[in-house]
Amino acid sequence: MTTRRTVVTAASTALLTLPLLPHTAAASPAAPEKTSPGLQPPAKQAVAVGHGGAVASVNPYATQVGIDVLRRGGNAIDAAVATAAALGVVEPYSCGVGGGGYFVHYDARTRTVHTIDGRETGPARMRSDSFTDPATGKAIPFDDAVNSGLSVGVPGTPATWRKALDTWGTVSLAEAMRPAIRIADDGFVVSEQFRAQTEMNEDRFRDFTPTARLFLPNGRLPVVGTLFRNPELARTYRELARTGMDAMYLGDIGRDVVRTVRNPPVAPGSTRTVRRGLMERSDLAAYRAILRAPTRTTYHGLDVYSMAPSSSGGTTVGEALNILENLRLSPADKVRALHDYLEASRIAFADRNRWVGDPAFSDVPTRELLAKEYAKDRACLIRPTSALTSPVAPGDPRHPAGCADPGTGVPEPYEGRSTTHLVVSDRWGNVVSYTLTIEQTGGSAITVPGRGFLLNNELTDFDFTPLRAGVPDPNLPGAGKRPRSSMAPTIVTRDGRPVIAVGSPGGATIITTVLQTLVNRLDLGMTLPEAVAAPRISQRNGAATEAEPAFLDSPDRPALEALGQHFVLAPPAFTPSPEIGAVAALEFGSHGRVTAVAEPKRRDGGSAMVVHPTS
Ligand code: GLU
Repeated sequence: MTTRRTVVTAASTALLTLPLLPHTAAASPAAPEKTSPGLQPPAKQAVAVGHGGAVASVNPYATQVGIDVLRRGGNAIDAAVATAAALGVVEPYSCGVGGGGYFVHYDARTRTVHTIDGRETGPARMRSDSFTDPATGKAIPFDDAVNSGLSVGVPGTPATWRKALDTWGTVSLAEAMRPAIRIADDGFVVSEQFRAQTEMNEDRFRDFTPTARLFLPNGRLPVVGTLFRNPELARTYRELARTGMDAMYLGDIGRDVVRTVRNPPVAPGSTRTVRRGLMERSDLAAYRAILRAPTRTTYHGLDVYSMAPSSSGGTTVGEALNILENLRLSPADKVRALHDYLEASRIAFADRNRWVGDPAFSDVPTRELLAKEYAKDRACLIRPTSALTSPVAPGDPRHPAGCADPGTGVPEPYEGRSTTHLVVSDRWGNVVSYTLTIEQTGGSAITVPGRGFLLNNELTDFDFTPLRAGVPDPNLPGAGKRPRSSMAPTIVTRDGRPVIAVGSPGGATIITTVLQTLVNRLDLGMTLPEAVAAPRISQRNGAATEAEPAFLDSPDRPALEALGQHFVLAPPAFTPSPEIGAVAALEFGSHGRVTAVAEPKRRDGGSAMVVHPTS
């Protein structure tokens, strides 16, 4: 991985042939620079078919980096870390070394699935009432929490990359991060999407001096088509790689993170109330990425592996699939299948909100939530001709109550939507499904001065106050605790061999996006590209189901409304467009054939590539 290969196939894209720009140390971070006409990002395609390995992500630079690693003989783990590091450069508002995530890995040799929980943690000084105002006893405003040091969790992404490479990789951190360092130094071409995401954040970015300096070069939005460079991030990556990530957990980058969290660099003249954080250097030293067993359930003879708590992704997708298995979905009755999908998701979300949190802090009934018997009880609540009334109450998976009245629950807590997902496979059959995030698009909006990366606001995923008085809430803030996530990096196998790898960003809509994609593919007869492209609807135990515009205009809508379903336009997520999720997925055929699938339109379309395309 030390040199850029020049022997590439025609399908290989422009990154490899970009003229290398001088690394001008004097260049101010992100100084806009005109691109030469030949300097374009790698070409984008949403679907690629072939063999020898594959990568799909939201960004063509990042996908290209992963493919280059595979071509040079790296395995899926090497390529996943390299792709993630590149995403930290080119998608800095969705992920990076200031955040966390969940890494799911299928090992072809042992035919087993393993995961890394790289979720951020609350600092040791965090208390269950840290997000309440002592004067009122009420939760502090969500927005105040987002844009604050208080919401910054101890980053888990550097430890995740280290753990993944140490455990299953074949290259060093320095090798895996080298292509990303090069992009940070040389620059990437500003896309409409990058500009739009900056614009969405402009007001809050202006409130933090280093953020405005980095992402609003010369005080303005980055100009589409110009080069965006981040030499400070390149230096940060170099130092992290050189020290095996110790610079974050034991060294000077960590020191700067703590300083920034405890004393956020608010711009002169800003009127924003910015709370200080609680993080200390000992919190960084204590951080561990955890190897965990995945969740596993079966669905029509397939094994579905995903992320166990601290994420609710695996239990909630799994419970919903278990419920659906009782209902015999058929493409011949798509409306009924969509109705069942919405109802299963509604019920699974009721259980998720009641039972799932960091398993180090409460006894999460992971096995019971995924029990087929429990799913049978929950499925029996679903009526073919009328929707349940939300919020439906949670069940008790340890004491299933048969087909009892569902009762009334509590509304779903608010969650932001950001994040990014990537999938990789290699020629040996290893697979990675990896979701990583800094929580909101733009995270806390706080950049570590001189370090080139944003800090997360992941601790806003805690419930600020108990969801229901008198009922234990497993997701209250706590010292060293991981806030509940919705990330659901998933790998589906049949007889021990991978069939599908899938995941998505989108906060709590991650769960419904992964679930709907699987239902589309496995039950409704769609191909994987069709399953990804289909309009999305997201029901999370709310009175209304969020829907994308294409669904609201479809004939399925009135048919489902006749069954009592109610739809509203999904709120803007990553951009001003009302989109739900942004899937990256792989499907494995016979003889090593792989289909890589990215979004054709959402987030301006993602990037799928294979090592050896089928002509
Ligand atoms: N914080 C979210 C979660 O862990 C991910 C960020 C997002 O997609 O909004 O579920």
